[in-house]
Amino acid sequence: MKALEDRIRADAQILGGNVLKVSSFLNHQIDPDLMTELGEEVARLYANEGVTKILTIEASGIAVAMAVGSAMHLPVLFAKKHRTSNVSGAVLQTTVHSFTHGIDYTVVVESAYLNSDDKVLIVDDFLANGMAIRGLLHLTRQAGAEAAGIAVAIEKGFQDGGRQLREQGLRVESLAIVEHMDESGVTFRNESL
Ligand code: 5GP
Repeated sequence: MKALEDRIRADAQILGGNVLKVSSFLNHQIDPDLMTELGEEVARLYANEGVTKILTIEASGIAVAMAVGSAMHLPVLFAKKHRTSNVSGAVLQTTVHSFTHGIDYTVVVESAYLNSDDKVLIVDDFLANGMAIRGLLHLTRQAGAEAAGIAVAIEKGFQDGGRQLREQGLRVESLAIVEHMDESGVTFRNESL
């Protein structure tokens, strides 16, 4: 998606450890107009899939998922990293390894919000090694729901998550795929003209 690729070129910073910092527009400070455009593009891509629910993981997936849910007029459910007092009743839970923090953490959703008749679109800000998405797929399967596919804002194509998920036959839509990044900048796969 050209608007996202242009914005990454203009405003993203490349940090050590293969981290692309997009905190000025995507996952710390948020540009709502760009977010709305991302949501509309994902809605267009998944328009005919019978999606009933958007599923993401806190914290930085929520803004992207909210834009998608708004464009598709569907509820947005996010997996919580802390089982707070307002999570009640039966829960589904899984363990996710964090790429950015290097630790394992447990995430939960209340079972009441994810059902066997749901067709789930999994959304996140980044796809790197695919741990976060795999956790969300695990929650989806525990509920007996079907995964319609995956949509992420930015895939780092030089990490393996996207390839592995596509090899499993899952539909993965990434609005920008970073093929390579170094001090001289970012190269995109299938760059939009
Ligand atoms: P994965 O689970 O696919 O390895 O990593 C995805 C998660 O790690 C995303 O939810 C995202 O928050 C975080 N992440 C992975 N790579 C990056 C990156 O390059 N920049 C930022 N800002 N977050 C990342």
